Amino acid sequence: MNFDLDKRTAALGVGEFSSFTLGPRESGDGVGGGIWRAHLGTHWHNELRTRATAEHGAAATFEIPITGQVAHRGWTLTLTGRIDQLIQPPAPPADSGPPPETASAAGAAASTHRARRAAATRPVILREIKSVTRPLPADETELRRDYPDYFVQIATYLALGRSGLLRAATPAADAFLPGDTATVLRGELVFVETSAGLVQTLTLASAEDALFTAQLERVVEFLNLRLRARERLRGLRYRPPFPSPRPGQETTLTELTTTFEQRPLVLFEAPTGFGKTGVMLEFALGQLRSGHFDRVLYLTSKSTGQIQVVDTLGRMTAPEESPAAPGAAVAPTPDLAQPGGTAAAPVRATPVAVWHVRNKGEHCVNATFHCVRDNCQYLAGAPERWGRSGLARFYLDEQHARDLETLRAAGREARICPYEITRAALAFNDVWIGDYNYVFAPGNRGLFYDQPGFLPARTLLLVDEAHNLPNRVADAYSHGFTATDAYTVREDLNRIRPPASLLSAWDHWCHFLHHLRPSDGLSADDEDDARHLLGEIAKHVSTGQLDYAALGPYAADALWSVPALLDELEQSTLPRLWWSPRGAELALTCLDAAPAIGATLREFGGVVLASATLTPVDGFAAACGLAREAAPVIKSAPSPEPAQPLPERLGELNKRTTRKLYKQLTTAAQLLRVEEARDAATPTHLRAHAPWRDGTYDVAFDARVDTTFQHRSRFYPETGATVVALQDAAHTPVAVFFPSYAYADAIRQELATSTPEFRVAVQPKVRDLAAQGAWVEESLSQADALFLVLGSSFAESIDVLGGRISHAMIIGPALPEVNAVQRARLAEAARQGLSRDAAFRQVYQIPGMTKVNQALGRLVRAPGHRARVLLHCRRFTDAGYRDLLAPEYQAGTTILDDLAFAAWLNRA
Ligand code: SF4
Repeated sequence: MNFDLDKRTAALGVGEFSSFTLGPRESGDGVGGGIWRAHLGTHWHNELRTRATAEHGAAATFEIPITGQVAHRGWTLTLTGRIDQLIQPPAPPADSGPPPETASAAGAAASTHRARRAAATRPVILREIKSVTRPLPADETELRRDYPDYFVQIATYLALGRSGLLRAATPAADAFLPGDTATVLRGELVFVETSAGLVQTLTLASAEDALFTAQLERVVEFLNLRLRARERLRGLRYRPPFPSPRPGQETTLTELTTTFEQRPLVLFEAPTGFGKTGVMLEFALGQLRSGHFDRVLYLTSKSTGQIQVVDTLGRMTAPEESPAAPGAAVAPTPDLAQPGGTAAAPVRATPVAVWHVRNKGEHCVNATFHCVRDNCQYLAGAPERWGRSGLARFYLDEQHARDLETLRAAGREARICPYEITRAALAFNDVWIGDYNYVFAPGNRGLFYDQPGFLPARTLLLVDEAHNLPNRVADAYSHGFTATDAYTVREDLNRIRPPASLLSAWDHWCHFLHHLRPSDGLSADDEDDARHLLGEIAKHVSTGQLDYAALGPYAADALWSVPALLDELEQSTLPRLWWSPRGAELALTCLDAAPAIGATLREFGGVVLASATLTPVDGFAAACGLAREAAPVIKSAPSPEPAQPLPERLGELNKRTTRKLYKQLTTAAQLLRVEEARDAATPTHLRAHAPWRDGTYDVAFDARVDTTFQHRSRFYPETGATVVALQDAAHTPVAVFFPSYAYADAIRQELATSTPEFRVAVQPKVRDLAAQGAWVEESLSQADALFLVLGSSFAESIDVLGGRISHAMIIGPALPEVNAVQRARLAEAARQGLSRDAAFRQVYQIPGMTKVNQALGRLVRAPGHRARVLLHCRRFTDAGYRDLLAPEYQAGTTILDDLAFAAWLNRA
């Protein structure tokens, strides 16, 4: 839906209009949409088209593009759509000439006249075809309950037609539409059962106009609420995130705003402990208030980070007297920021509406997390209960509590899935906080992208901890299957007697997986076989009628995932490796998600990618599909090409369309516009200045040892002795970062033999943040050295080391393990035209050195912290590695022998 709140206009498709709802919606047959359903739908559309042509000849026309404009409660809605079939009544008999002179001739004329009158009152039929997987014929009440939007859709066409508001969207279609309001119209909804082709036709009465009017009310209520939100944002008041800014913070907001206004795609690098979350939030609230954006999305990969954002926003907008949840009104305070930068007048401040989006499983209040109607009382009948549930308070009242427990309690009480409250309320919130997946993962992005009024071009996207984004998105596009899992699903299927065709397709899949042998890449034949088998399963899942409640969540998810995967493979051309890491296992590993990331980022009106570790910036930009020369394909240009309107926003320029545009350009002004748009789509790097970090790192490059996999064991004694010497100099525990657990364990063993009294604590494999923190605290008090693994959550998330550790050591550049995926990535980089060195840098050196930068950055987190750091491997003296260090770690002492090491250690 596109709307203009100032002009009070909205434009949307009839389908979108018909399915618009602010509460839960029925999922119909529960199988969902996707390409497979679309294929089936097209098949049955064509089939019924053939039948209609045979029956009505030229009186039947198809896919007629229409538009209609409706005024309702001060809003003007423009609806567009396509009527599947339009059947004209038979032409009236021809005029029989002069008046009859005989009785028999008079009789014939009277009969012709009656026939003509009858023909004149015969209706024009408007038909919508809908394919469903449920058995037909079905009770009409059930069909109305399960597919309410289909009924609204045909009612909309009828209402527009009867009011004379139906217009042809193309001149060619004009001839087919009823010319005036006197034409009798009849609506037909034709359901087709996908598996057998059985047809059930329902005729809509004129009373169905009420469906159309009720839908108009819903849409207009939504638009009025958006208008209210816009007015609220214009008066938004908030206080700065920091009571007194640290050196560097005070100028960063201005720099970020200025940089962003020049190019709305900013790579914002600020050290750990800088307070970049606060800076970004203050920047975002300013953008909202100035009306540049309708909404802000704040994405970060960890729920602890998301909670921190909620808390910071709460502090920025809460009353002075007592901290409150975000959304609470802000009492007047002297430091409230407002337009013009002056102190706020004593007015009641306007809240900002914030929604922290948790995953569906966390919302669940059912005994089992299995979202099918027959299994979940919170899903069955939810649309009917929604109207009287009072849950609309979650979006009507911006100050209503919206924490998970409140949602769950409200959902339980109203017997409506709490996730539906989140889904309904989201559109009315100004800031959405959640995981990357809600924007970047094809299986999860529907929650955001299907929200009414969500327009990426009018949305500011903030991505925190952005160095994680490329890997996270690649993971979202990677998939795995095992024969063991497949056999478990088969057992579940056998319990419920599924259609034989589906069982047979699944059996073939089990057999295929079972016989897979470990391999670095499937042969072309095997890959073809796998695709074919998955296609067969998808076909049967999409057409079959299964008792998903009886099947259970595990097998149901496994079956649903197959058509979803095939949709994904069809829609994206990301490079993937089909391989078998172990026998009887198949992995589809995404080798490079850059095109998908870049395409998504370019959809947004503005983007800030923030992290403490974006260096090397060229590598990060390339991994996000933002390198100028590697601009990804966003959408294919239409062909044949009429003169295209020039792109208006960030997302519409890419390499291919640019080439096409250049061919069309005839004036220098046009050329200039293209260049400007291309420039705007190129990221700008902004590095926050933190003067309190200047000179805080004392770095040494230890060239005495070689930590490459082939040679490291020769140097175990030196490495062990170096750890002990470092701790001797520090007099407190030291942190030692290893590229792997195995390496850490080898040095632990070395020390246990050479220096048994030296106490080493090796990082445990726990994910819980509290447990990690407890281990660090205990180790700091009891061990001489903490052995940590680079790239693990200990190295990335544990902030307590800052100021507590004075000496640290990095053992080697933490290059990724050489395996089939890395080899395939190397080959893919070469295929994209990178030289051997450039490909090695991209695939091995940058990821490895990013982990090093990440670990080092956490050692100095506040003014007064200092760290002496030994980079323990001769590779660190190589420019190829050294240049990938963040600037503050690049200068240091090179250590060639033990004497030099001792001198560095003993230096004051
Ligand atoms: S619909 Fe909601 S309550 Fe029911 S199983 Fe799914 S998440 Fe749980």
